Amino acid sequence: MSEIPKIKCPRCGTDMHYAGGPSDSNLFTMVCPGCGHQSTHYCGSKYEQEQERALKISENLGAVISGEHIVYTSGKHGSTYFEKRIIYSHVAVVSEFCRAIAIRFWMKNIQVVVAPEVGGIALSQWVAHHLQEITGYEALALFAEKQPLSRKEFFLRGEYGRLIDGKNVLVLDDVLNTGETAKKVVGVSRGAGGKVVGVGALCNRGRLLAHDLDVPCLESLIYLPMDSWDEADCPLCKEGVAINTEFGKGAEFLAGRSG
Ligand SMILES: [Zn+2]
Ligand SMILES: [Zn+2]
Repeated sequence: MSEIPKIKCPRCGTDMHYAGGPSDSNLFTMVCPGCGHQSTHYCGSKYEQEQERALKISENLGAVISGEHIVYTSGKHGSTYFEKRIIYSHVAVVSEFCRAIAIRFWMKNIQVVVAPEVGGIALSQWVAHHLQEITGYEALALFAEKQPLSRKEFFLRGEYGRLIDGKNVLVLDDVLNTGETAKKVVGVSRGAGGKVVGVGALCNRGRLLAHDLDVPCLESLIYLPMDSWDEADCPLCKEGVAINTEFGKGAEFLAGRSG
């Protein structure tokens, strides 16, 4: 904290005291010496700086693909793509990004972190690690598995379902498009008795807000809103631009069209 603000207690009017927070966070706590009231505050533009830095790192690693004709998992077409696999292969970057997410939730007494398999497993491990480092309390790192048959719905296997019951849960996802996956993981977490306090994401491509996911809070490290179109309205299809088969679902799309 470079400058500790003067804040009066909203309950009793006493000058509140600074009660700390990690030095790389822009959230800090104030406590009232009179009545013990605590409040959380936000300072500065660190989130914006972090977002710029995370985007720059992702671009430098080649994880932000633009100017291509991409088919997304949703079936829609677009010109840009965020390749999370590239991020996941750089462990120091995963750790840094996950710390930035952990910092946005460290005040919320997170007891369990849940993410969808496969990539999300790395996220839940690293975010739980950093939460524990910041708060000194253990946060369990769990993952939701895809139903073996549908591969679309998620479930919490065995013990995982029980570990969540009655706990404060943070749900994570790497890339939010429509938000369907995150919503499903929120759903299974609630179904197991967890209190979902929010969703944290590496990259928000869908301009999603917390209420779209029906959660109290959504924090995304990178905002990368991308235009997408139904195939019938896709300007790149109209221009006859070749579909990229390296990223997204382009290869499957072309195989389906020829077969
Ligand atoms: Zn007070
Ligand atoms: Zn197209």
